[in-house]
Amino acid sequence: MKANNATLAHVWDKNEYYRSKLEEAGFTEPKIESLEQLASVPLLKKDVIRGDKQKVLCVDPKEIGQVHLTSGTSGKPIYTSYTLADQYIYDILPKYLEIFKESGEDVAAIALPYEFALPGLGFQRLFQFAFRTAVLSLGKGGYMAPVDKSLELMKEYQATVLATTPSYAALLVEESEKYGIKIGDDIRLKKIWLTGEGCSSTFRDRLEKWWGCEVSFFYGSTECGGVSVECSEHKGYHVMEGHVKVEIIDPVSEKPLPYGKTGEIIVTTLLREGMPMVRYRTVDIGYLQKARCVCGNTMDVLQLRGRKENMCN
Ligand SMILES: [Zn+2]
Repeated sequence: MKANNATLAHVWDKNEYYRSKLEEAGFTEPKIESLEQLASVPLLKKDVIRGDKQKVLCVDPKEIGQVHLTSGTSGKPIYTSYTLADQYIYDILPKYLEIFKESGEDVAAIALPYEFALPGLGFQRLFQFAFRTAVLSLGKGGYMAPVDKSLELMKEYQATVLATTPSYAALLVEESEKYGIKIGDDIRLKKIWLTGEGCSSTFRDRLEKWWGCEVSFFYGSTECGGVSVECSEHKGYHVMEGHVKVEIIDPVSEKPLPYGKTGEIIVTTLLREGMPMVRYRTVDIGYLQKARCVCGNTMDVLQLRGRKENMCN
């Protein structure tokens, strides 16, 4: 709750739009007394920030360290500005980092888009800054990132970790044969992180078999950054509670829903300076559970039931 209030205070002080919305909702100061009261903070819709780079910007434009954008499905992009500090928050999220087993001994191949959107650079920063992992910035197909060169680099530098999308993880396997690279022999991974498009558990099983390693999911977006991550139990995504507050609402009534009830996923970014998202409507669908995970992690578990937009086109 402290982090929620710090976020409210920041957007109240630094952003006209957020402040006027809070005032319209009856707030005379940027403060909630209980987490239930968070429901009275106005929701933020994608349409409000689409095509508008200033609307929810909470710093002087000179403070911006990195801009990302998502094209989405309907026209104008959503611009997201991060300060430099926003990109180094991993240090203060111990419980979330416990889920990752990566270290300085690993070599992580990142086969995600580096252009415009967050995924490629986001994973790169996480691996480099949080775990001191060596990174191979492969990108994801296309003219500058051909599959054969990507596979070759993974082989040459003995990649142990791969971060990519489900379909690209499958494509790399399919293409490997053509280039005479043997998965499990020339390239021996111990872990694959998948993000972007959804993927059935059958498809995950297939990828685990093909690559001969564990495959886990990571849920996030360019606007909100990392939101939740799957532990090795594969029973849902632990919410990165030090970094985001996740709520579930009924998308029609906009009322909060309790644990176990499926609805729209609402994300409030905490500790974000540049462009905090306050009660952002992700349009993704899911439900929350209290963590009773044998992995020992106490962060709530998010079950994803559908993504409306694909962030890794
Ligand atoms: Zn767990």
